[in-house]
Formats: sequence, C-alpha cells, structure tokens
Amino acid sequence: MSILERNLENQKIKSVAGSMLVTNLYTAGIGGEFFLRALKDKGEIVGSHCETCKKTFLPARLFCERCLSRLTQTKAAPQEGTLKSFTKVYIDLDGKSLEKPELIGFVTFKGFEGGLIHRIFSKDEKKLKVGVKVKAVFEAPQKRKGSILDITHFESQL
Ligand SMILES: [Zn+2]
Repeated sequence: MSILERNLENQKIKSVAGSMLVTNLYTAGIGGEFFLRALKDKGEIVGSHCETCKKTFLPARLFCERCLSRLTQTKAAPQEGTLKSFTKVYIDLDGKSLEKPELIGFVTFKGFEGGLIHRIFSKDEKKLKVGVKVKAVFEAPQKRKGSILDITHFESQL
C-alpha cells in the first residue's frame, strides 16, 4: 500500500508482537563538535573565522553564513562578554515551576558575531542591566562532558 492509499478495512491490518530496538545518535555537526570539544578540553569558547569576510562567528561552525566559505580557522573568545539581553524565568522547558527563578541572558563577545544564551548569576540582580560585563564560569575539568553546560553560568560582578 502506498502512502496515498488509505486502508478503510481495519480487519486487514496485522500486528506483530515484540519489541524493536531503535537507537538514535545526534551529533553537533563538525563546527558544533569543535566548539563543544574546546569547552570540554580547554575551557575555551571558540568561534570560526572567515578570512574572506573578516568576521568571526560564535559558536564555531563549518560554513560562513555570509559568503558560504568553508571555515577552517578558529579563534578563542575572551572569557568575559557583554550582557546584551536578559530575563527571569519561573518555569522549565517542560512547563514545571522552578524551585528558584533563574536569570537567562544573551552574551556577546568583542570581535565575534553572534553569542551565547546561558544562565546569568549576579550578587545583586537589581543592579544587573544590559551592557554589564559577565564572565564565563566553567565546571571543573574532570566534570566537563562536552556540553554547553560545561559553562555553568556567566557571572556578573554586580
Ligand atoms: Zn565569509
């Protein structure tokens, strides 16, 4: 039966009891893997540089989004970035209430296009504002897994 045909006689449908092993493996892609490995192995935030456009994109990627050149050069971003936007969240991705609200912000880095969205910590969140400097705080090297969460948060000195 093709996908365009409909079976209106459900007596003809057969089933087979049992289980089927299904596995999935999702990769971060070549540029994403380079970015995540740099987080894990070096504690660095790495972008890809396009020599044609003279731009460096964050996070690292395989192709330039402007000229489509293959990107082979990388650059480490400074550990300190600028908070461009932030908000306080009260529920998680599944809609469940968080025990404690979290600040989530968009952080950019001097000389890099793009940025990272991550948790923001501040000693006094009432003083937090767009434009303040925030610094990446990493997990201990032995605890890193090659995830964006190898950066635990960005911290403001305010
Ligand atoms: Zn380019």
